[in-house]
Amino acid sequence: MKDCIFCRMVAGDIKPRTLLETDRILAFHDIHPQAPAHALVIPRLHIATLDDLPPDDPELAGALFQGVRQVAALLGLSASGYRTVINCRGDSGQEVYHLHLHVLGGRKLGWPPG
Ligand code: AMP
Ligand code: ZN
Repeated sequence: MKDCIFCRMVAGDIKPRTLLETDRILAFHDIHPQAPAHALVIPRLHIATLDDLPPDDPELAGALFQGVRQVAALLGLSASGYRTVINCRGDSGQEVYHLHLHVLGGRKLGWPPG
């Protein structure tokens, strides 16, 4: 997907501030952090939304969540805690249509979210 910004990161055309790379996922700092620590975990595969997660590939969801756990540890959030957010389409405010898991922490996070 050459017009997808996250696919361009996977391809190496755009260089994010990378935190973690595996054969299935990539994790990097969000460009507009909403908390002192704010990272994104994405699949290398172009998947537009959570609803498009391939049902025949359960390992991918596992790889994404393991990525979240590792990124939280890398950011020093494991003890203090953190939040993972997945926005899915219009009402959620999803802006980039390549599946991504937000990892937010480093301050007390309000609930419910806005
Ligand atoms: P969402 O609203 O869930 O689609 O979130 C998209 C996220 O991608 C936002 O938090 C943006 O700040 C982030 N983002 C957009 N472009 C970039 C980029 N080039 N590098 C890092 N993060 C980005
Ligand atoms: Zn993409």
